[in-house]
Amino acid sequence: MDSPLSVPALADFRRIVIKVGSALLVDRDRGRIRLPWLYSLVEDIGVLHRRGCQVMVVSSGSVGMGRTMLDLPPGQLKLEDGQAAAAVGQVAISRTWAEALAYQDIKAGQVLLTLGDTEERRRYLNARSTLKRLMKLRAVPIINENDTVATNEIRYGDNDRLAARVATMASADLLILLSDIDGLYTAPPALNPKAEHIPVVPRISAEIEAMAGAAASELSRGGMFTKIEAGKIATAAGTHMLITTGHVKNPLRRIQEGGRCTWFLSSVSSSSARKSWIAGALEPHGTLHLDKGAVEALRRGASLLPAGIRWLEGDFQRGDAVILRGPDGGEVGRGLVAYDAPDAERIIGHPTSDIEQLLGIKGRSEMVHRDDMALSSE
Ligand code: GLU
Repeated sequence: MDSPLSVPALADFRRIVIKVGSALLVDRDRGRIRLPWLYSLVEDIGVLHRRGCQVMVVSSGSVGMGRTMLDLPPGQLKLEDGQAAAAVGQVAISRTWAEALAYQDIKAGQVLLTLGDTEERRRYLNARSTLKRLMKLRAVPIINENDTVATNEIRYGDNDRLAARVATMASADLLILLSDIDGLYTAPPALNPKAEHIPVVPRISAEIEAMAGAAASELSRGGMFTKIEAGKIATAAGTHMLITTGHVKNPLRRIQEGGRCTWFLSSVSSSSARKSWIAGALEPHGTLHLDKGAVEALRRGASLLPAGIRWLEGDFQRGDAVILRGPDGGEVGRGLVAYDAPDAERIIGHPTSDIEQLLGIKGRSEMVHRDDMALSSE
């Protein structure tokens, strides 16, 4: 599957998110952070930084480090033990990053995110300005999920998708996932000696997704599956993604020197970043079922009016992301809905001119404005 496509060079990028997995950073057997490796990575970050590139780091390891420090038992942790471990481990992780970056004369800024910070538009805009400001001030954000308050229901769960959401939120042009494997293979290489490395993925096809499914059991905790999910989020928003091994010192220099990796290329221009945010919503809050005429109108570039909606599902609120489905049940796109579910229920199927009479207020004429909508390709 070698591809003739040319790949970009690291020097071409001006804003890069680097995701570092737990297993790379924390030596669980010895209960400590792998400092020589971290310092070699930070040396590479220093090179990018001095070149004017804005760098963000998504670092895992809080739970892994904290559970060792607190002597918690092996195996699945109870929710509150995981939260406590994260609280203790996060301090150690952040301090170590800050100290390592200080050697390169770079300041670190800790950013802990919860799911709502990327999924709710207002909070997303707020987190985005914080990141942009930090980078303007030439500090490197060290980002993780706020595992101390995350619950099993409300969490990203894996830092691959978190890193992709952060990369798209900050309009990064590259996301690097440092992993325990040097890219995507046609099958798990440890099990199948015929597995072939794939250097470039121009588009995440069903075939690529199937490879990730097959490889998941052999790979890191997030597995290849969450990495491909991250790839979908990133490339839909104009961010290229690269997976490579972090099991070497100076892993970024190794990429520059032509070390093996897999590139996931994006063909989307980042000017449609808002639409990508909508398309990549991790947790839509409901579904609007449209009639045929409404689907056709959307494809022509129109907004979605209440009249074109046959029925709806979900307990969404104004501003939430919802899925739009056509008469055959297929997903037509996603959008931010302009009404809470109970109000929406009252006006669907009605002409826009009836809204005031039905709700007692002169609400918006569209259920989903076309600027707030990302259509799936036909
Ligand atoms: N946020 C978790 C931690 O810092 C890691 C999640 C992951 O490894 O994907 O421990």
